[in-house]
Amino acid sequence: MKCPLCSFENSKVLDSRESPEGIRRRRECLRCGGRFTTYERIQAANLFVIKKDKRREAFQKTKIFNGLRKACEKRPIPALTIENLANEIEADLYSLGKTEISSTIIGDMVMSKLKRLDHIAYIRFASIYRDFADITRLKQEVDTLAVTSENTPPSTQLPLPPEIAAGSAVNTAVKTAGGRRH
Ligand SMILES: [Zn+2]
Repeated sequence: MKCPLCSFENSKVLDSRESPEGIRRRRECLRCGGRFTTYERIQAANLFVIKKDKRREAFQKTKIFNGLRKACEKRPIPALTIENLANEIEADLYSLGKTEISSTIIGDMVMSKLKRLDHIAYIRFASIYRDFADITRLKQEVDTLAVTSENTPPSTQLPLPPEIAAGSAVNTAVKTAGGRRH
């Protein structure tokens, strides 16, 4: 760590503490006595994503964030929630302790998180990501969600009259998600 004033290589640490930017160290240059601050961060191990076509690319959290943001477009989901979700997924991936992860595993992870957050965003992400070969698959997913939301209605929502409950599954999902808005 070179002194920013005289470029001398040695300094002594006066103070060390945790901070959001990393470990903050107050240092004093052993030659000129100049004081400066450094932030020390743990460098995460390199993580590579193996794509469906076997290509290998460095993991980028921004890609997850962008995918989530696209899926959550015009949904009542705060940007911070999306950011936290991307952070969670990143942490989960690193906690697997692997250096290579298939894009399928990442996609499934994103889907399981979105499923709990917002059904419409989930369907959107699934339809892009899973590349549903036929509309039947997608309809099965939607039906599964409809059953789930009927079994666990939000406590603030009154039971739907039968004629509405019998409506399309997507509409049910919209109502459920909308009911959580405050
Ligand atoms: Zn110095």
